Amino acid sequence: MTPLVERFMRYVAIDTQSDPESNSFPSTEKQKNLSSLLAAELVQMGVADAHMDEWGYVYATIPSNTNKDVPVICFCSHVDTAPDCSGTNVKPILHQQYAGQDIILPDDPTQVITTKEHPYLLQKIGDDIITASGLTLLGADDKAGVAIIMELAHRLVNDHTIPHGEIKILFTPDEEVGRGVEHVDMQKLGADFGYTLDGSELGSLEFETFSADGVEIIINGIIAHPGSAKGKMVNAIKLAAEFVADLPKDSMAPEVTEGRQGFFHPTDIKGAAESATLKFIIRDFETAKLAEHEALLEEILKGVMAKYPGANYQYTVKEQYRNMREILDQHPDVVEHAANAIRDCGLEPLSHPVRGGTDGSRLSFMGLPCPNIFTGEMALHSKHEFVSVQDMEKAVDVLVKLVQRWEQATLKTILPTS
Ligand SMILES: [Zn+2]
Repeated sequence: MTPLVERFMRYVAIDTQSDPESNSFPSTEKQKNLSSLLAAELVQMGVADAHMDEWGYVYATIPSNTNKDVPVICFCSHVDTAPDCSGTNVKPILHQQYAGQDIILPDDPTQVITTKEHPYLLQKIGDDIITASGLTLLGADDKAGVAIIMELAHRLVNDHTIPHGEIKILFTPDEEVGRGVEHVDMQKLGADFGYTLDGSELGSLEFETFSADGVEIIINGIIAHPGSAKGKMVNAIKLAAEFVADLPKDSMAPEVTEGRQGFFHPTDIKGAAESATLKFIIRDFETAKLAEHEALLEEILKGVMAKYPGANYQYTVKEQYRNMREILDQHPDVVEHAANAIRDCGLEPLSHPVRGGTDGSRLSFMGLPCPNIFTGEMALHSKHEFVSVQDMEKAVDVLVKLVQRWEQATLKTILPTS
């Protein structure tokens, strides 16, 4: 077992599931079990300032070893695992020299990772594949990223032939419940540019995400005693149902869109005869189009409301996150250096727009332009999750090249202070 594999196997065995219902931060205390371990391991490596703060974030600095004035680069991963699938008692299994077969998970043989469902496996023949045992997710999302960054730190601290500027490490809790950057102290972090290690396929480099809004609609009906409601009552439940039934079925919905197409999507409905509340998420790669989608959604609602005089509604739009490309286009070096580092490792960078958000989309708008680099993690949030050891090793190599790319591209030296 290589040190990277050994690291990964230890980290996934620690339960760090986050909880969307929790109001505390981090959403589950157990995430700190891994975070405090990571901080201690970094200190042990010689990364002297590594520590976990009260919120469960790990911050660490690997000092520069060059006399050039290199931008400070941060590498970031999340320690939590998705609430969708159990993360308790994860038993990682290493399948050495994978031969291309479907993988039956021993603790529940009905759980089979098939090459039909996951054709990526067929590209990994000969690799060592790690899976869970059938009862839990694996947690490669994002402990693959965590292990890759830890291995990078180990290499940089021990190999002085790799010239690099100051490197920051950030491990965050609660990414899976959308709160991963809530308490990041950007000032304390003190980085110029960042990369999340939370991508999938070997070679992938993601710098475009959805722009996202949330819409809340409250429909107010007219309440009356059902025994004497004739000609008076307007039932908000019926209005809400009619409105949902009027939503387009062949367009504008996640179940019928792909690629660069946007949508609106009802995520929650509750109500009584008097009043009903509906929640929607609105998504597109072009921020300007969100307003168009929101206007169309409201038009459909108005069409229903017009039939019921006396009833009314409130329509509230809330910004959620924005396409990181809007920021990254202003700093082309960030993506360019990563793409070149991937090429330095003999790979062709793959870039697909992400139909979702990453911690990096939020960080980019908080002042840390932050694309996403591959880790090899696949079939996320499920019992069929797997990762190729060789993909993870390659990601470490890419990061080693990447820190050197930043150093090489910097011409200015730091002037000695007198
Ligand atoms: Zn993730």
